[in-house]
Amino acid sequence: MEKKSYNPYETAQLQFDNVADKLDLNQATRQLLRQPSREYHFTIPVKMDDGSTEVFNGYRIQHNDARGPAKGGIRFHPQETVDTIKALSMWMTWKCAVVDIPLGGGKGGVICDPHKLSLSEQERLCRGYVRQLSRNMGPISDVPAPDVMTNGQHMLWMMDEYETILGGHYPGAITGKPVGMGGSLGRTEATGYGVIFTLRETLKNLNIDITTSTASIQGFGNVAEYAARLYSRLGGKVVAVSSWDNKDKKSYTFRKLDGLDIQKMVDIKDSFGTIDKEKAKELGCEVLPGEEWIAQEVDILLPCALENQITPITFAKISDRVKVICEGANGPTTPDADELIKARNIYLIPDFLCNAGGVTCSYFEQIQCNMNYFWSKEEVMEKLDFKMTSAYHAVHNLAIEKGLYMREAAYVIAINRVVDAVKLRGWV
Ligand code: GLU
Repeated sequence: MEKKSYNPYETAQLQFDNVADKLDLNQATRQLLRQPSREYHFTIPVKMDDGSTEVFNGYRIQHNDARGPAKGGIRFHPQETVDTIKALSMWMTWKCAVVDIPLGGGKGGVICDPHKLSLSEQERLCRGYVRQLSRNMGPISDVPAPDVMTNGQHMLWMMDEYETILGGHYPGAITGKPVGMGGSLGRTEATGYGVIFTLRETLKNLNIDITTSTASIQGFGNVAEYAARLYSRLGGKVVAVSSWDNKDKKSYTFRKLDGLDIQKMVDIKDSFGTIDKEKAKELGCEVLPGEEWIAQEVDILLPCALENQITPITFAKISDRVKVICEGANGPTTPDADELIKARNIYLIPDFLCNAGGVTCSYFEQIQCNMNYFWSKEEVMEKLDFKMTSAYHAVHNLAIEKGLYMREAAYVIAINRVVDAVKLRGWV
């Protein structure tokens, strides 16, 4: 089979168009919702430690804010593209709508390789990003958060720069901040845990006992780590995880057929999620090529890395034993692979539902910042579980009732909510 290249924005538009047809949306509504409403492209000059200046390209894209301020992460990645950020901003709109939180969709990015930047260079990059965007972001317009290769420290530098420019305290301007600095307990765990809340409910629906189930995970960053931790705590066995090795410029799959000890794997990874190969061998792992995560004989596959990982080519390697695909990443499946998943009757938990725990907890963070009163971790987790579980069941029930693929059912709920908002506002 020939290797195709996939553009995530085309994927996001195709997914939208298919459901827009089903919902019989009018032309203006389609035009409004199949593209972002605002895009900012800017340069960020950064003084490097050696005294030179490097100029980075930054982006912030606001897809839709009819239901509330735009919301979504900022990614630092060398292969970031405008089209990827456009797609991700669209998916954020659907994500916030499917879990019914009063926020819109946005996404940002900087083309850079944080592995090659010192901490002080990263700080200047974060501050430079906010200097360029400060007029067009904030608690009532657009609220950034962490994403691929950004973390709480980056968010705090950004918030500090924002508050310095505006001359006041605006803790609701950015989420994913460190605990004690306006962050919420549980935010670090929220996306990965949310993934497993939806998986737990799925397994109940499919009559699969989680304690006899096995899983293989792509990635070992924030989402994958906390998904792996909670899944193992609930009794599931993680047989394999994969991780990107920036030195070798490729990924590896780490497999242990009798189950990985997740804490031990976390202990041997660096802050970018790269697992140390030698130490992994000492722990009894087989080190296999990166793409092998998808070929494992397991019940559940969890793509928790980047876009376009399940394609017709990689789908061909999926074992007949796989019953559930749980999309922790954004956009991991291409539209042609969706058709194959449908045809094989594998149960899909679609990305913008499955990984909505992060943004849901960001919303809780904003609420706590507004009250200036912070909840216990138990309280955050209970609310998160409730939101994710109710959203999941609404999608599952609609899929059953109307005979829809899970991705379509999630889109129907999300798009209907956004369409109601744009209509009520009188935009279409
Ligand atoms: N970056 C996360 C996502 O893709 C979280 C966004 C947020 O918290 O605003 O959902």
